[in-house]
Amino acid sequence: MSRSAHPAGPRHGDVMPEGHFTAPPADLNRLDPKVWSQTVVRDAGSGVVSVGGLDVQALAEEFGTPAYILDEQDFRSRCRAWREAFGTDADVYYAGKAFLSRAIVRWLREEGLNVDVCSGGELTVALTAGMPAERIAFHGNNKSEAELEQAVAAGVGHVVVDSFDELVRLSWIAERHGVRQKVLIRVTVGVEAHTHEFIATAHEDQKFGLSLSGGLAAEGVRRALTLDGLELVGIHSHIGSQIFDMAGFEVAARRVVGLLAEIKGEHGVELPEIDLGGGLGIAYTSEDDPREPAEIAKSLTEIVRRECAAAGLTPPRISVEPGRAIVGPTAFTLYRVGTVKELEGLRTYVSVDGGMSDNIRTALYDAEYSVALVSRASTAEPMLSRVVGKHCESGDIVVKDAFLPADLAPGDLVAVPATGAYCRSMASNYNHALKPPVVAVSAGAARVIVRRETEEDLLRLDIG
Ligand code: PLP
Repeated sequence: MSRSAHPAGPRHGDVMPEGHFTAPPADLNRLDPKVWSQTVVRDAGSGVVSVGGLDVQALAEEFGTPAYILDEQDFRSRCRAWREAFGTDADVYYAGKAFLSRAIVRWLREEGLNVDVCSGGELTVALTAGMPAERIAFHGNNKSEAELEQAVAAGVGHVVVDSFDELVRLSWIAERHGVRQKVLIRVTVGVEAHTHEFIATAHEDQKFGLSLSGGLAAEGVRRALTLDGLELVGIHSHIGSQIFDMAGFEVAARRVVGLLAEIKGEHGVELPEIDLGGGLGIAYTSEDDPREPAEIAKSLTEIVRRECAAAGLTPPRISVEPGRAIVGPTAFTLYRVGTVKELEGLRTYVSVDGGMSDNIRTALYDAEYSVALVSRASTAEPMLSRVVGKHCESGDIVVKDAFLPADLAPGDLVAVPATGAYCRSMASNYNHALKPPVVAVSAGAARVIVRRETEEDLLRLDIG
C-alpha cells in the first residue's frame, strides 16, 4: 500500500495540520552539514549514511538501537575551536550538565578545556576521569553540605556561590579544611534571553543567582569579603540557553563590569575574573544560524575591554561555559522504525524504538529537531511526518514536524541529529525503558563510552 505524500506540504483541500513546518526540502537525501556532525556522509552508491567511517547499518547491528552515536573528531575539533577562539587569556569551561562521561572528561583534559559541574555526581565523574581539581568549577543553587565538603576536600578551582546561605556554609567548611576557597558570586543581570521561557535564567523572577538591580548581588559581595574561608575572585552570569543573538551577552557583560566598578568604588577591590556562562545556540534544523566561537570570543572580549576602559578597571580574565555548543552537534540518535501510521489529511506517525525517555526536550521545551532516513536513500515523495516514541504518553514526540520519504517502512533506520546535549544527560527510565548507550566513533573505530542499561540494572535498584 503506498502512502500519500505531501510534495509541497499539506495538499490542497486537506485539513491544515497544526505545527511548524516549512516546505519540504528539495532533496530528502541531503544531510545539511549545519545539523549533522563533521564526519557524517551518505554513500553515493548505497545511500547508507556513515559517521567516522562506519556505516549506520553496522553500528545498529553491533550496538543495537536506539543509540546515541557521538563523533569524537567533531567533539575534539569544537573543543579546539573554543580554546583557540578565547586564547590563553581566558578559560573555557565545558558545561558538564549537557553530557558528561569519563571519556568526555579525558577528551576535555587533552584539548585544554576546564569543566563545570553542578552536582556531587558530576564532580565525581570529572575527578575520577583525571580532570585536575583546580580546572573544575562547581555550580548549583542548592549544593548540599556533603557536596560542598566534597568540592573543598578535592580542591576544586572555583565554587560559584548562589545564595547568602551558601556563602556562610561554604566559608565554614573551607575554614574547617584550613583553606580559603576561591569563589565567584552568581548574579542575575536582568537580561531575559530570547528563548523558551523555561530555559531563560537571567530574568529576576527565578531561582538562580543574586539580583543586581535589587542590590542582593552587592550585598553578597559585602558578605563574601568578610568571610575568612572565602576568597572572592569574581562574578558569574548565565543568561539562558539556545541563544543566537549576542546582544543579551553584551548587556550582561556591561552590567557585570558595572558591578565590578561598584565593588572597586565601595571596597577598593578589583576582582580579577568574570564568567559569562554558556547558552550559545546550535542548529537543530536548517533554519537555525549559530554564531561561531571566534565571533563569540571577539564580541565578548571587546565589550568587556571597552566597558573596563570606560570604568577605569583592569580587564578581568574571562571565562565561558558552553555545553550545548560543544557536544550538541556531535551526536545523533539512531532509531529503528517500528510502525508507520498515516492519518489521512493530517500527517504520518512514525514510531521509533525510543522516545521521550532518551529525548525529553521536545516534550519539555517544544524543541525542534530534524530527522533523516539513514539506512538507505530514497527517491519517494516527501511525507509530512511526526516521529514519536513508544511510551504511554501522547506527548511522547521526538520530532514534531519533519518530512521523510513516503516509502519509509518498519525496519528502516532513522537518525535525529544534534542530540549530543541534554538528551542522554536528561534520559529517564520512564516505562522502565533502558537508557541507550553512547557510542563514540572515530577514524573507522567505534567504542561504547556509556553502555546500554540492562534489565539487571533496573532490578538491581528495585530491591523488593
Ligand atoms: N553555565 C550555567 C551556569 C548553566 O546553567 C548552563 C545551562 O543551563 C550552562 C553553563 C550551559 O548552557 P549551554 O549548554 O546552553 O551552553
